[in-house]
This record gives sequence, C-alpha cells and structure tokens, in this order.
Amino acid sequence: GNGARNVTDAEKGEKMDASVSRILVFVRLRPMGKKEKENGSRCCVKILNKRDVYLTEFTNENDYLRLKRLRVRHFTFDSSFPETTTQQEVYSTTTGDLVGAVLEGRNGSVFCYGATGAGKTYTMLGTMENPGVMVLAIKDLFAKVRQRSLDGNHLVHLSYLEVYNETVRDLLSPGRPLILREDKQGTVAAGLTQYRAYSTDEVMALLQRGNQNRTTEPTRCNETSSRSHAILQVIVEYKTRDASMNIISRVGKLSLIDLAGSERALATDQRTLRSLEGANINRSLLALSSCINALVEGKKHIPFRNSKLTQLLKDSLGGSCNTVMIANISPSSQSFGETQNTLHWADRAKEIRLKQSEVNEEMVQVGEEEGPDQAKLLLELQKE
Ligand code: ADP
Ligand code: MG
Repeated sequence: GNGARNVTDAEKGEKMDASVSRILVFVRLRPMGKKEKENGSRCCVKILNKRDVYLTEFTNENDYLRLKRLRVRHFTFDSSFPETTTQQEVYSTTTGDLVGAVLEGRNGSVFCYGATGAGKTYTMLGTMENPGVMVLAIKDLFAKVRQRSLDGNHLVHLSYLEVYNETVRDLLSPGRPLILREDKQGTVAAGLTQYRAYSTDEVMALLQRGNQNRTTEPTRCNETSSRSHAILQVIVEYKTRDASMNIISRVGKLSLIDLAGSERALATDQRTLRSLEGANINRSLLALSSCINALVEGKKHIPFRNSKLTQLLKDSLGGSCNTVMIANISPSSQSFGETQNTLHWADRAKEIRLKQSEVNEEMVQVGEEEGPDQAKLLLELQKE
C-alpha cells in the first residue's frame, strides 16, 4: 500500500470515490513515569487488541486514596500502541509505507500531537539508544535507496524548521526568521537550509543538534519546546530513464512533525476555543483545530492561511498526500483531562478525507546531462 488506505464503502456506509483516502490515526500510550508512580497517580488508560483504547474517569471527591471509578469511554483507532511498544514497531506500523511511497514520488506526512510530556518528542526524535520515527525513517530510506540505486539516482535533502510564536526558524542554521512563500510545490520557507544527506549516523547527530536549537520557554526552563512545532522535511529526488532514454524525475516529500503541547490550545468546545483566541495562546494549534473542523465538515474554504503551521501543512492535510497522525497520551489519572482531549481530537481526525496521493513526476529534456554530483552521490550511497 501507499500508506494511506482507501476508504471502503462499508466503513463509510456510503459510496465513495476511489481517489479519496483518509488520514490514518494512531494512539501511543507511554509508560508511567517514576514521579507519577511516586505521587500515587493511577493508570486511567488501557489498550486492548492493539486497537481499542479505554479511558477511565476517576473521582476522588470523598477519599483521595479510594478513587471511585466514574465511567469508562471507549475509542478505536487504526492501531493503538500500549506502553510496551518499541520505537521500531511504531515506525513500521505508522510510517514504513510512507517512506516507500516517497521514493515513488509521492508526498507523505506524519505528525505527533498531544500534551506536553505525553511522548511526542520521544516518538519522533527518540534518544541515541532508542531512535524515533525521524531517524528510523531516514535509515529505512537509505536502505531502500541502496537497494534501488542500480536503476537510477536518488538525491536526499533534509530541512528542519521550527514554528514558535508564529515565527518560522531554521533549526539547522539558526538565524533570522524565515518568510513563507507559495510556489507550485506548495508552501516553502525562503532561504531554508536544504541539507544534502548521505548517511544515517550523520543525520541523527544533525537532528539532535537541531532539536537543541528549539526554542525553550523562558517561563518553563526545564520544559523545552512545549510551545514550538518542529518539522523535518525529507525531499527525495529520483532520476531514471524511460525506454526512449528520456530522463524522468520524481520528487517525493516526507514531512515529520513534532507538534507543540496541545494542553492549552486544542480545547474541545467552541466557547473555550473562543476565549483562548484572545489570549496569546498557540495560534498555530488553534488554526490546526479550525482546519480539522473545516475538513471534517467538508467546508469548501479551509483556513490554512490563518497560521504558519497550517500554511506549512496545507499540502499534508488538504492536498494529495498520505497523512498519518500519532496521538501521544500519558497513562496517569492526573493527565485525564489532557488525555480525554487528545483522544477526542484523534477521534475527530479519523473523519478527515484526503485526495489520494499522486506521483510528482516530470520528464527532463532528452540530452540533459546528469551532473558529476549525482555520480558522486551514487558512490557515497554505495559506500555507506
Ligand atoms: P513531549 O515531547 O510530548 O512533551 P517527551 O517525548 O519529552 O514528551 O516525553 C516525556 C518523558 O517521557 C521523557 O522523559 C521521555 O523520555 C519519556 N517517554 C515518553 N514516551 C516514552 C516511551 N514510549 N517509553 C519510554 N519513555 C518515554
Ligand atoms: Mg517535546
């Protein structure tokens, strides 16, 4: 498959166009933290059959130590990952297919969302010992490129950027804020570093460094990047020749997104949403929830232009793209409200319909030379 699944008639209960696909939505539960265990919080989330999520609401009105079970809510997703799930499993289930599709010249995007501390950065970036989706995707990409390098040339470019307070910054070469422009490939950040990548090791170090450049909130010094969105873009250009020796160029783009903490911005009800709008709360996340609402309701106008994040995600949400959402949640009863909120949005995101991804392909004029750069790249790739 190409990552996105066709919506079947049975699923929708109505006839649907075969060119329509939907967002795949996954939930990942992180293990209970040491602190949480120590302060007596209870586990309020249970995942069964790798699909079903049960969220229990407790009340502690009478006796803190004898929490009373109020009610249990049930949600179901494409896959739900219990706390024992490995990084590799998360990667293969959510993103593996998208990497294959990007090599064919399609676009794909994966975003993690959830409250601060729910495990987004762990899932996306991970640690040196347990690398996350970003690193595993690039590793897999290079492996697939190596398998195929005999029948063509691949160029892999990376860019890593941050949206913080409606300012776009280059995480690979921090400096002045970047300006967004629209071009035929979608929204681009002018002047963004396009890093030519040759090997996985180099990329891990690069991403770790980039992550350290993410904005730390002055008020919450040890909570890095809770309000900044980080976007890694991997652009793969594949050149090959057809039967008449014309050079065919395909360009696929994979966007991997670690969203800001959703605790204050992704309010469930409209009234809270409105009251937040006045405050200088994360405008990009608010805009994202408005876009999701508009997409779900099948509105003609989707307000992508309302924020930097939604402008950047326009071709991931509204265009022709394979899109995956990973909702990260904590098991602690102390995070019940945030978890409920995250599951609500994840549930809603299941309704978003997308255009089936297309191959971005163009024919290069006969006789146009492939530069020495490409030969060098091919050699480098074979060495790795
Ligand atoms: P977020 O980016 O959503 O704010 P983090 O990814 O920083 O949250 O996770 C918060 C803490 O929980 C970190 O210390 C992280 O290492 C740990 N953590 C998150 N998910 C997992 C997991 N699946 N397994 C082990 N530890 C995790
Ligand atoms: Mg984080």
